[in-house]
Amino acid sequence: MLECIVTKFGGSSLANDEQFRKVRSILELEPTRRYLVPSAPGKRYPTDDKVTDLLYACHARASSGEPFEDLFVKIRERYLSIAQQLHLKVDIQSALEEVHAGIGGGKSRDWCASRGEYLCGLLMADYLGWRFLDAAEGIRFREDGTLDAEKTQELLSGLLKDGESTVVPGFYGAREDGEVVTFSRGGSDITGALVARAVNADVYENWTDVSGFLMADPRIIDSPAEISSITYKELRELSHMGASVLHEDAMFPVHRAGIPTNIRNTNKPYHPGTLISKNAPNEVSVPTITGIAGHKGYSVISVEKNMMNSEVGFGRKVLSVLEEYGISFEHMPTGIDSMCVVVSSEQLNPHREEILARLEKLVEGSGAISVNDNMSIIATVGRGMVHNCGTAARLFSAMSRARINVRMIDQGSSELSIIVGVNDSDFEATIHAIYHEFVG
Ligand code: ASP
Repeated sequence: MLECIVTKFGGSSLANDEQFRKVRSILELEPTRRYLVPSAPGKRYPTDDKVTDLLYACHARASSGEPFEDLFVKIRERYLSIAQQLHLKVDIQSALEEVHAGIGGGKSRDWCASRGEYLCGLLMADYLGWRFLDAAEGIRFREDGTLDAEKTQELLSGLLKDGESTVVPGFYGAREDGEVVTFSRGGSDITGALVARAVNADVYENWTDVSGFLMADPRIIDSPAEISSITYKELRELSHMGASVLHEDAMFPVHRAGIPTNIRNTNKPYHPGTLISKNAPNEVSVPTITGIAGHKGYSVISVEKNMMNSEVGFGRKVLSVLEEYGISFEHMPTGIDSMCVVVSSEQLNPHREEILARLEKLVEGSGAISVNDNMSIIATVGRGMVHNCGTAARLFSAMSRARINVRMIDQGSSELSIIVGVNDSDFEATIHAIYHEFVG
C-alpha cells in the first residue's frame, strides 16, 4: 500500500466543472493521494483560451494603458461557472475582483500570470474540503529570479509536515520580499515535483490529457506504442531531442530524491500511464529500445588539420571559439586528423562568418574547414541496448534497406542511446525505418 502520493493536474484536466468532478473521483479512488497541485484552467475545446494566456494578455494591455475588460470578462466567466456548477462556497467573486484591481493597479507580469493557478487552487480546495496553501509561502525564488531549491525544501516540508491534505497552486512562488515570481511556461510540473520532494512522496503523479509518453512522434508514426516504463536518464535524452510531456526542470527534484513520476490521463483514470523512475525496478523483460526522438536543422562543422591527433589542446581551441559566441555543441565525433562539431543552425547562423573565419585561422596552412547544413539528428534511446547484442547492426541495416545515407554516428559507452545524423530530407524515413525494425 502506498503511503503518500502527490498529484499535479494540468490545465486541460481543470478546464471546467466536469473536469473538476473527474479530478475528485480520481482522488477518491486512492485516499493516499493527499496533495494536489493545480495548473490554471486550460482549453475546453481547440479554439478556446487558456486562462494563463488571457492573464498575460490582460497584463500587456494594462501596462500599455489600454482597457482589458473584454479579456477579463472571459476569465471571470471561467471561474464563476465552475464555482456555480459545483455549488462552491468560497468567495471567488471577491478574489476575482482583487485580481482585476491588481492587473489594473500595475502588478507585475508574473503576479498577473500566477493568479490563474491561485484562483484555481482556491476553487479546488473548497471543492475537496482540503487546506489551501499559497505557493508564495512555500516556494522561494532568489533575487535573480532563479529557484532556491534548498530554501523551498525547508519551507515546504515545514508547512506540510502535519500531513493534512493540501492544495498548493502550481507555477509560482515568491522572493524573500514577497514579490511573486513564476516558473517558465508549463511550470506547474516543477511545483508538483517540489511538493513531492518536500513530503517525500512515494509517487509523483502528473495527470494530463495523454496516457503517458509515446515511443515516437505521432505526427510521424501512426499510433505509436506507449512507453510503460522509462528511466529519468532515458527521458532526459528523449526530451532533449524534442519529445515533451513534462517540463524539463520537473525531473531534477524528484530524480534526486528517488521519487518516481507517473504520467497519467485524467480522461482515462485506469490507464497506468508511463512510470519514470531511477532504475525502472522489477522489470520482467526490458525492451531493446524505449523511444526515438529527433530534430532537423543542424549544421556540421568539419575541421581537418594535419597531425591534429598529436596536438594537445586543439579540440579545446575549437570549442572555445564556439563558447565565445554562446553556442553549445550537440555532438562531436572525431577522427585522427579531423573533428566534426554538430551545432544547431539557428545558433550558428547569426555569427557564421566570424566563427568560420576564426576556425580557418586555427588550421591555417595545414587544414580546412567546411560546413554541411540541413542535417537531422535522431536519438534511439533504450536502457535495454546494453543487454542486447546486435542493436546497432539492426538499426543500420534497417536504415540501409530504406536507402538512407548515414552522415554521422555517435554512441556513448553507457550504451543508452545511438545517435545518427542524416540529411533533413531523410528525417521522417529514418524514424520510420528504426521504429518498424524494433517495434514492428
Ligand atoms: N498555467 C501555466 C502555463 O500555461 C503553467 C502550467 O500550466 O503549468 O504555462
